[in-house]
Order: sequence, then C-alpha cells, then structure tokens
Amino acid sequence: MHELSVATSILRIAEEEVEKVKGKKVKEITLKIGKLSGVELDSLKFAWEICMKGSVLEEAKLIITEPEGKAQCAECKTVFPLEKIYDVCTNCKSPFKEIISGKELKIKKLIII
Ligand SMILES: [Zn+2]
Repeated sequence: MHELSVATSILRIAEEEVEKVKGKKVKEITLKIGKLSGVELDSLKFAWEICMKGSVLEEAKLIITEPEGKAQCAECKTVFPLEKIYDVCTNCKSPFKEIISGKELKIKKLIII
C-alpha cells in the first residue's frame, strides 16, 4: 500500500524535526496532499492510525489541505482545472500541458512541543 510508505516517511521527517529542536512530540501537523498526488486520504488515515501508535505523532492533530489540480496548456497557454492527469486542454484539446498544482505531497507545517 502506497499510503503506508507515505505515512512512514512523514513519521521519519517528524521524528527528525522533533529531535532537531529537542522537543517531545508533535502537537499539530499540516499536510499538503494534492488531488492528483495519487494518495487516497481514507487509506492514508487508516495507515496513519497504525503507523503513529507510540510515536511522536500519535497525539498530533492532523490537518490535510488538498490543492485542486490545475494545468497550463503548452499550446495555447490556457490555464484550466485538471481532474485527472490525462485531461486535455479545455480550450484547444491539446494533451500537452504543464501541471501547476495538484501533485503536492508534503508537510506544510509542524508544531512541536
Ligand atoms: Zn490549449
């Protein structure tokens, strides 16, 4: 399960950060998980429960923000919403585009106590 490795790597980063500031644990964590990142939020939350038991993240409040998918067409430069990675330009139907947002998968904020 992809989500389990996502949770594990988040935990590793959080542990390092807690260590760095000589804190005790994480009070709050904000994740940025784009709609096109391929991460299933339900699976992630399930994996989270398992992974974080007894860790610095066990009692942390989990906040997830989900940026919408957005792309700019390589042909006509139109910026359009992207629901799936294979969507074509809404203006000229070109499949060539640059993804501007929606693929994020990162920790936005950590509050350590
Ligand atoms: Zn276009």
